Amino acid sequence: MALDLTGGITGNARRLALMAALGAIWHCPSALAQAQAQQQRPQPKPATTQTIDFNKSSTAGYPWSDTADFRNAKRGFIAPLPNNGVIKGKDGKVVNDLSKFEFIKQDQPAPDTVNPSLWRVSQLLNISGLFEVVPGIYQVRGADLANMTIVEGDTGVTIYDPLTSAEAARYALDLYYQHRPRKPVVAVVHSHAHADHVGGVRGVIDEADVKAGKVKIYAPEGFLDAYIAENVYAGTAMGRRSSYQYGFMVQPGPRGYITSGLGSQTSAGTGTLIPPTDYISKTGEKRFIDGIEYEFLMAPGSEAPAEMLWYLPKFKLINTAEDVTHNQHNLYTLRGAKTRDALKWPGYLNEALRMWGDKYEAQIAMHHWPTWGNAEITKLIKAQRDTYKYLHDQTLHFANQGYTLNELPEKVKLPKALLDNWATHGYYGTTSHNTRAVYNYYLGYYDGNPATLNALPPAESAVRYVAAMGGPAKVLAMGREAFENGEYRWGAQLVNLVVFSDPDNQEARNLQADLLEQLGYQTEAGTWRGWYLAGAAELRNGVKKGPTAQLASPDTIANMPLDMVFAYMGIQLDAKKAEGKEITVNLEFPDINEKHTLYLENSVLNHWPNYADSNTDATVTLDRSTLNTILSKGTTLEEAITAGKVKVTGNRARFADLVGSLTNLNDSFWFNIVTPNLEPQGVIGRALK
Ligand SMILES: [Zn+2]
Repeated sequence: MALDLTGGITGNARRLALMAALGAIWHCPSALAQAQAQQQRPQPKPATTQTIDFNKSSTAGYPWSDTADFRNAKRGFIAPLPNNGVIKGKDGKVVNDLSKFEFIKQDQPAPDTVNPSLWRVSQLLNISGLFEVVPGIYQVRGADLANMTIVEGDTGVTIYDPLTSAEAARYALDLYYQHRPRKPVVAVVHSHAHADHVGGVRGVIDEADVKAGKVKIYAPEGFLDAYIAENVYAGTAMGRRSSYQYGFMVQPGPRGYITSGLGSQTSAGTGTLIPPTDYISKTGEKRFIDGIEYEFLMAPGSEAPAEMLWYLPKFKLINTAEDVTHNQHNLYTLRGAKTRDALKWPGYLNEALRMWGDKYEAQIAMHHWPTWGNAEITKLIKAQRDTYKYLHDQTLHFANQGYTLNELPEKVKLPKALLDNWATHGYYGTTSHNTRAVYNYYLGYYDGNPATLNALPPAESAVRYVAAMGGPAKVLAMGREAFENGEYRWGAQLVNLVVFSDPDNQEARNLQADLLEQLGYQTEAGTWRGWYLAGAAELRNGVKKGPTAQLASPDTIANMPLDMVFAYMGIQLDAKKAEGKEITVNLEFPDINEKHTLYLENSVLNHWPNYADSNTDATVTLDRSTLNTILSKGTTLEEAITAGKVKVTGNRARFADLVGSLTNLNDSFWFNIVTPNLEPQGVIGRALK
């Protein structure tokens, strides 16, 4: 999530493009369509013979004879997604179009340009529609990145995890109602605080019914804080990085985006939030929801900061939330987020085995397909548990022998016993980046070598490397040789030097794109494929800037604590503009009876809550609801002042000076990734260039 707190002075296009908020993305269909419609030249290329060979040989030992996942993904099928998987909003705009994935045929082998294992999971993710898990429990799969689960109770239905957008959640519920009795939604249970499990809540319930006590919303303790906080401060960077991870700038297709590995893609549309009415806080806590007994297991700090699993004795069903899915998940997500705790995660799965290991007969998760049968479920949970535990233990095992961040992927490989289980495969997370995540979680980014302690910035060192190697033509010749030899990792490292030393060198950019593209065709991970192919597209065609984003939904902004709003203002502060300024501003919010003081000094913005400074330069009075409207771009600060909704007493110029020192970071959304943002600064670097 990224907010513009610069007083609404800059222009904005609502609902653009890309949002990384809290583990998922909202993107604007029009911006997406626009970006995808742009002819990309030169076009993606075929797989090389080395890539074809790699895809065959690297996956030959995989457990291809185990096709249980396909049986399970199809089991209980009731109906396909309506309208060919095209989901539209009230205004007729398309918010998700699953028909774009029709090229992933069930009965066809992987194209040369797709890792066969990634193709396999993408085939599984393409098995979509309404399914019965057990009589009384249903899932809509494939309408969004996550699943929506519907549980039939005494008086109505309970929804688990209402997808990313209100439109997608409504579409999923309508599909259910076409085939099951139309009973009202009486409860929503959020398994965790990621937007792909929350944002569609207003598509299935009305807030008025929640306020009237007719509908309850259950969530793990810490849910609201986690939902709002996880990605606020780094929101713009995460949003931009997500455009790579999820391949938004790359057309779906055999030479383009396949799936994320976790789900096909997130829906666009309206992201919403209604604060929960009931929090679950203790493992072993029991509740009756619409007459059905629940037993909960808290899993904070695992896949999400606030997450829980639960068991329904009546159905002998365990919901493993997102802690047990059919792939190796992320201990660190490449779009960016705080690294997860690889020791707590398997610990919670041990608790699940102890609590319910002799009871369950059906398992669901909030992504992928269910598993049935006690032994099969235990096998799945243990494989997931031991994948994360192995990554944790073996990373530290080797870190304690001195191996460092970028050496660990060569040392830590999953054992055959785990790799024989498809659910350990790195479709979303990978062993390579997860082992580095564990290292970073415990030891940080520094490898301990003083040579890297104060290394030159990337472009500066690239200029010098290229000069030392005899100039760009020589480096490109070496890069072409690496391509011919199928040494794409090495080639990409070489040619990156030329691109970073001279980002306008299109010959270098095209060669780098070719190298990254083959790596994309070879990777098993949907996320890595996204990074490689998005990088290739931007090297070939440049950064295609969409409209500026307004990324946080009005519901999210309305629930954001003011402390967080003011903390984010500190991040927006342009320290150079603020240099030498000392400004004190009191803020009063009559509707919520709160007072805050902001202090600008030393090019830093500090905030004191519950305080009004008697020596203030200006006092600004506005309702919290007015602030929400400004932050949601419903009005600008200037308009609100003119309309009398914001009153400024004292020195107005000083207040304006403070607001004028803030930068709208959303304007930087389309920053460079495969080319430098910082040009060579040093004297020698400039001379060489
Ligand atoms: Zn999810």
